[in-house]
Amino acid sequence: MAKADFNVPELEQYPEIPALEPNTMGHSSPFLSKPEFQEPLGFPGELMEGWEEKAIAKMGELLDKYRSLRVYLDVCVKCGSCTDKCHYYLGTKDPKNMPVGRQDLMRKVYRRHFTLAGKLFPKLVGAEDLTRELLDDWYSYFHQCSQCRRCSVFCPYGIDTAEISMAAREIMDSIGMGQKYCNEIIGKVYKVGNNLGLPGPALEDTLEGLEEDVEDETGVAVKYPLDQEGADILLVTPSADFFAEPHVDGLIGYGKVFHEAGVSWTLSSYASEAANFGMFIGSYENMRRVSQRIRKAALDLGVKRIVFGECGHAWRVAYSFLNTLAGPWDFLDPNYPVPQHICEFTYDLIRAGKLRFDKSQNDDMVLTYHDSCNVARASRMGDKPGGQFDIPRAIIKATCNQFYDMDEETIRERTFCCGGGGGLLTDDLMELRVKGAKPRVEALNNVMQEKGVTHLAAICAICKSQFSKVLPFYGMEMDQIVSVHQLVSNTIVLTGQKIDEDEDEEVDEAA
Ligand code: SF4
Ligand code: SF4
Repeated sequence: MAKADFNVPELEQYPEIPALEPNTMGHSSPFLSKPEFQEPLGFPGELMEGWEEKAIAKMGELLDKYRSLRVYLDVCVKCGSCTDKCHYYLGTKDPKNMPVGRQDLMRKVYRRHFTLAGKLFPKLVGAEDLTRELLDDWYSYFHQCSQCRRCSVFCPYGIDTAEISMAAREIMDSIGMGQKYCNEIIGKVYKVGNNLGLPGPALEDTLEGLEEDVEDETGVAVKYPLDQEGADILLVTPSADFFAEPHVDGLIGYGKVFHEAGVSWTLSSYASEAANFGMFIGSYENMRRVSQRIRKAALDLGVKRIVFGECGHAWRVAYSFLNTLAGPWDFLDPNYPVPQHICEFTYDLIRAGKLRFDKSQNDDMVLTYHDSCNVARASRMGDKPGGQFDIPRAIIKATCNQFYDMDEETIRERTFCCGGGGGLLTDDLMELRVKGAKPRVEALNNVMQEKGVTHLAAICAICKSQFSKVLPFYGMEMDQIVSVHQLVSNTIVLTGQKIDEDEDEEVDEAA
């Protein structure tokens, strides 16, 4: 069990709504960004003179630009439906982590400056000035929201706290109070091409190593091409896929699927990152700059299609905004969706009977599946409603004999965030990450006890990294989290692959 210098919550069999413990997480704030990370993104280096006026002016600008923000701040009736729906409240008991409590941190400033009642009778309507104390609360609690949108599913008005958090972070960045983790990472994308700062030669080395490993293991020369001009498909994947388990096992799987499909594909060293942290900080301009790299790579390489690897928020940005951010994509093949998810790609091949699997290769695992929040509540897959839930499960079932879902209140559109999304996957927020993971780990623990589940599959780089880190705090193993395409990789039978006779019979049965 990993050691913690804070209380790790006890897992319960039935979720309990905790009694309030005000300000238990008031001390939790991520490291502030330094000028060297602020300025390349177009933000002031540090908290500027006259920040309050500037913040209110920025809020006014956002209220004019995003009608939804004004509506969300106006329409809450304090019905309480959202109060027990946020994993950070359930894990920390802090009422400012109730979605409505978090919203109110901004709502009181909105009322003070943008409503008549708040200007004339502030105390009567709970309106407040943006004092330094309140700004510190903003910094703390708007970095305790993973922008997962679970609360919006339960709000009768559909109020989306994620958008309020994004706006708050945008306002704070505009006055020089940015978050180090996100802003430093965005800077690395501009400088090197990816979040991890991996230069082209390091990527090339990794990919060559993968080619050798796969050929040793299967006897088949599967290629992992980089910067190959004229390839049909550009794969844009999170840089974690080049780097660490279980992510890299997913990348191995994508390559095997492309090989078996007989398509030409390539990665790009220039656009070697699917993640787009511009969304987490609410900065459309930075989100656009990151996305434009994909456009440039696609044009330079002359590809016909773009496929995204396993990354939750990257898929949200790609699915929902890529056309606005970096389109039009009229130079790509119109016969395919722009963009396409690797799960859609693999699923289409499975449906067409073009892939063979030896499911017994995954018999050492009993699987469950974690719906990553950005995929579940901010995107779709395939051509049917619910495809974002059904397609990954169909791939798991095609590659594994043993699969059980977690409790239905905790999956699909009601899924709980892993606790590390929304730009919070940083060690300076470890207490928050561990406590915020509680509802998901609780549901996992229950299905482990009841069904003998051993592993949790996911299609999000942040979820995979978060679970590797936090599961040991709950007495579980870091390698219980696996990539969906790792399951594909373990079981796919490549044309020409040498397998023994017993295995051959199992493959025939599975097919
Ligand atoms: S968006 Fe997610 S993290 Fe943020 S308040 Fe709602 S439930 Fe909590
Ligand atoms: S569920 Fe919606 S309306 Fe009700 S308190 Fe929460 S945010 Fe307000």
